[in-house]
Amino acid sequence: MDRKDKEYRRKRVERIKRIMVITVIVLILLPTVLCLILFARVHSLSNELEQIKEMKLETLYAAENSKEGRLLAGSSTGSAIVNIGGDYSDSSGSAVTDGDIREGTDTSDVGKDDKNYKGVIYLTFDDGPGANTEKILDILDEYKVKATFFVTGKEDDTSKALYKEIVARGHTIGMHSYSHKYDEIYKSESAFKKDYNKISALLTEVTGEKPWLYRFPGGSSNTVSKVSMKKLIKFLKSEDVTYFDWNVMSGDAVPDPPSYKKLAKNVEEGVTEFDESVVLMHDLPEKKSTVKALPYIIEKLSSEGYEFLPITKSTTPVVHKLQ
Ligand code: ZN
Repeated sequence: MDRKDKEYRRKRVERIKRIMVITVIVLILLPTVLCLILFARVHSLSNELEQIKEMKLETLYAAENSKEGRLLAGSSTGSAIVNIGGDYSDSSGSAVTDGDIREGTDTSDVGKDDKNYKGVIYLTFDDGPGANTEKILDILDEYKVKATFFVTGKEDDTSKALYKEIVARGHTIGMHSYSHKYDEIYKSESAFKKDYNKISALLTEVTGEKPWLYRFPGGSSNTVSKVSMKKLIKFLKSEDVTYFDWNVMSGDAVPDPPSYKKLAKNVEEGVTEFDESVVLMHDLPEKKSTVKALPYIIEKLSSEGYEFLPITKSTTPVVHKLQ
């Protein structure tokens, strides 16, 4: 074998070696990358699924109760039990006028002694904190309005800062479960307690105060819980926690929310039914029309004589009829 031949063989062996190494790397890397991509996809899809489930429950509840008519009754527990109405099929006209919203209107001058006084509105924002929380907080500040945020469990620094921000700016913070996963939290009583303990501990750690307010994902009237909702309500009571449902829906629960005008119209019509309205809205990144509707809602309803307040311990709870 001459030198040339040897050199050729050596190169050939090296080439084969290189190909083998590359093949092994690709074989390991490719599935790993694919796994990571799929994992992220599954995670985002499961989050989406939870939102769709909630939207279905909320709109189902509204549809069923609009058929039965509206009922407002006090219960022995001192809660206002409501069957809410809500016809969201109407796309005609709008109660909102286009044009510039006055900035920084002080709404605090509307009070019960005012002869134009129409009632109280508790704006509630579910599912945050998220990309819109800061914007919502800024709008509420502009109008000097305090509201209520029913938050879920998020451990990143931005979310933690937002929990603090909500409290620091004078709003009420309530729990809306840690995971917001129906299959998990409503699986059993112990699963619910476990989830409750997580969100309660997180908010206690971040805000320095034990939260006392809760909103069930899908409402207390949800039909998906495998545990009796009565049991879960009893548990919350044993923790000294009050739960609130809602009696007015903005209509922003659907995956592709309606225009801000439609949302504002839903709220403006909804609040005429009650002396004390608890308005359901969502603080999710995709609910941009909710943010846009907010100044219109506040501006119009405060000029009509409504007062905006945060839910406090002395607010009469608005709760749904259990299914
Ligand atoms: Zn929710």
